[in-house]
Amino acid sequence: MNPMPEVTKYIFFTGGVVSSVGKGVTAAAIGLLLKERGFNVAVQKLDPYINVDPGTMSPYQHGEVFVLDDGAETDLDLGHYERFIDIHLNRVCNMTTGQVYAEVIQKERRGDYLGGTIQVIPHITNEIKRRIGLVAKTMGAEIVLVEVGGTVGDIESLPFLETLRQIRHEVGRENCAFIHVTWLPHIGATQELKTKPTQHSVAELRSIGISPDMIVARSDFAMDDSLRDKIALFCDVEKRAVVPIITTPVLYEVPLLLEEAGVADYLIQRLGLEARQKPDWSTWQHLVAKVRQPKPTVQIALVGKYVELHDAYMSVRESLKHAALALGVEVEIKWVLSTDLEKGKCWQVVKEAAGVIVPGGFGSRGIEGKIQAARYARENNVPYLGLCLGMQLMVVEFARDVLGLENANSTEFDHSTPYPVIDLMIEQRAITDMGGTMRLGLYPCVLQPGTKAAEAYSVSQVEERHRHRFELNNTYRESLASKGMLFSGISPDGKLVEIAEIADHPFMLGSQFHPEFLSRPNRPHPLFLAFVKAAVERSKQ
Ligand code: GLN
Repeated sequence: MNPMPEVTKYIFFTGGVVSSVGKGVTAAAIGLLLKERGFNVAVQKLDPYINVDPGTMSPYQHGEVFVLDDGAETDLDLGHYERFIDIHLNRVCNMTTGQVYAEVIQKERRGDYLGGTIQVIPHITNEIKRRIGLVAKTMGAEIVLVEVGGTVGDIESLPFLETLRQIRHEVGRENCAFIHVTWLPHIGATQELKTKPTQHSVAELRSIGISPDMIVARSDFAMDDSLRDKIALFCDVEKRAVVPIITTPVLYEVPLLLEEAGVADYLIQRLGLEARQKPDWSTWQHLVAKVRQPKPTVQIALVGKYVELHDAYMSVRESLKHAALALGVEVEIKWVLSTDLEKGKCWQVVKEAAGVIVPGGFGSRGIEGKIQAARYARENNVPYLGLCLGMQLMVVEFARDVLGLENANSTEFDHSTPYPVIDLMIEQRAITDMGGTMRLGLYPCVLQPGTKAAEAYSVSQVEERHRHRFELNNTYRESLASKGMLFSGISPDGKLVEIAEIADHPFMLGSQFHPEFLSRPNRPHPLFLAFVKAAVERSKQ
């Protein structure tokens, strides 16, 4: 086996032309390529916004908030990294401008820089550097992949890019590589792809002192060889380092495409490394082949409040896909706006679905629609999976309709409800700050034998990721249980209900945690698997 490289190697990802062209997926896939060659890798995302983390942002602004084991609330790209590379990242793997400034300002107030004028260079850039350095240390990574959010030319990302330039200067060119991910627009009238915006964005990158080693050129149409030559020549990269990636509906095909393009071999050579093992792509090839196969379709109604933006439920969608693949079916997600249900609209979609999923959420808009969806699922034996808020509302619905507790609610939505079946956790009562103060990250959960949850997991204890302030009010445990609600997952101290299910139902289960953050393409999450399996059964009826 080759020894561990003496210095940490870095691969930096920048974006050109436009955002949302799959820079995160590209970084994730390249991480997998390197892991497959026997290297310890970690990925870090640098987000240029001033928020300390995305936890306080609307999903409309930002998409899903991805939660890590240590409770960090992070960018959804970390979900891609974890799913593709099959690793567990930590909180240093998502840096924001807000974190950097907060730290520097705190130090300034403490007097750490007494006498000095605090400036972007060197104070901010040094803090960015320190945080990049923490990734290798805390993750034990030999190769650190760093993705810069946004596109080159944004004012906000300049300090990040300047820091990367300095790192290259300090660690040497042989220890870092820059990958620029761009977009080739297609001109309909002439039926051609255009490289000019790519050239411009490389010129922009150069003007801040960074020359890319590789261009990943994304496009909706195949790129011919002459264009590759052109990009290589004008952007001054080797031809084999111009990597065309055509848009694919199969996300999990990207590592295979990059492997075929020789990306990893080029990169490890460029970084002076040697592969420790031959990559084994059989699992991924099998996975992609399964995606491509025609399969029976199962419709799942996802009842949420941000359904117009599918990215808000990224991990839920991926988890459904993982489970469906394992079962040889195709999940068709029907996105249902819960406020539509309140107006009596879209019920046909829910009625045609073989399963209902109510994901996490905050705030009162659309709550009653979700409760109505849970009632429909319970009364009609439709498989139901509730994730965090979806679990809480399943309890509210049951309390109202089965226990007859009129106006039962969560105190999040009704402070003066006579029956607060879901209430603020005791530890949360004194908290006034909104950012990073929920019950976050991994907590253990003991499964109760003989329940659907225990059957799905087939172990006695699990650890899952949380992000909530409210919980099932223990005052109501007994009465809920007496009418057929099972508390199938409990915290080891017995104080917190982590999973609830309905005894007399094919599959109606809600978890206080978010199982969607731990599902993997080739290892679907047990609860998603059990839910989709129940939906498949239902669709056969
Ligand atoms: N709003 C609920 C709570 O804070 C649910 C949170 C969630 O769904 N992530 O407990």
